[in-house]
Amino acid sequence: MASMDIVNVGKAYGSLTVIHGVSVEIPDGEFVVLVGPSGCGKSTLLRMVAGLEPITFGDIRIDGHVVNDLPPKDRDIAMVFQSYALYPHKTVAENMGFALKMRGEPKADIDDRVKKAAEILDLVPYLARYPRQLSGGQRQRVAMGRAIVRDPKVFLFDEPLSNLDAKLRVQMRAEIKELQRRLATTMIYVTHDQVEAMTMADRIVVLRDGRVEQIGSPLELYDKPANTFVAGFIGSPS
Ligand code: ADP
Ligand code: MG
Repeated sequence: MASMDIVNVGKAYGSLTVIHGVSVEIPDGEFVVLVGPSGCGKSTLLRMVAGLEPITFGDIRIDGHVVNDLPPKDRDIAMVFQSYALYPHKTVAENMGFALKMRGEPKADIDDRVKKAAEILDLVPYLARYPRQLSGGQRQRVAMGRAIVRDPKVFLFDEPLSNLDAKLRVQMRAEIKELQRRLATTMIYVTHDQVEAMTMADRIVVLRDGRVEQIGSPLELYDKPANTFVAGFIGSPS
């Protein structure tokens, strides 16, 4: 568990600035959804938080410590991608334990943590299977399992449900929220789906062209949108 402060963070690719000084303070245990149209900078921001992309200016702080120069592995952050990012030739157990194996952790510890994560995610009967032998929802749970085994302080999700069908998406939203309740961990969740944002978030950050348009609870954004962009995006009446 950790607080996460994004302080006036910016990103330029050459002469093109794509993130213009974004600030978001996230208290320990909050579920924050970054929402905005395609190309507004959601993935770039998440990748900077994860350490996968250097920031051009500003600070990222975890529990008050600036982590700007720390490599991803030293940030205690786990990122969940779409389920198709699984290794097809590794079993569920191997997929879930792979990051720990790369870190050189003892096999007995890895097995133990994979088993615990599998219990949380209802994946125990599937540990010896391969991704192709799983349903879409099970695959998505394996993708989450890879993050859980690392016991991170912060979880990042980048449109994890976008390649699932509508019915499964609704179910997985509930599962991710339940996971957050159980683990009580800070989570930053990126989506371009307004419904996902409104139903999952403690607070929503609305991004547009690399700038924050508004930060607030789903109700605040719905009742008091800061401008017509937010109103249009959230789907509120004003
Ligand atoms: P989103 O995830 O909200 O769809 P991205 O963060 O992927 O948006 O992209 C934000 C902007 O940054 C877009 O205009 C995109 O073209 C640009 N961009 C992303 N990655 C790169 C890169 N490696 N080089 C140059 N421009 C990039
Ligand atoms: Mg993206």
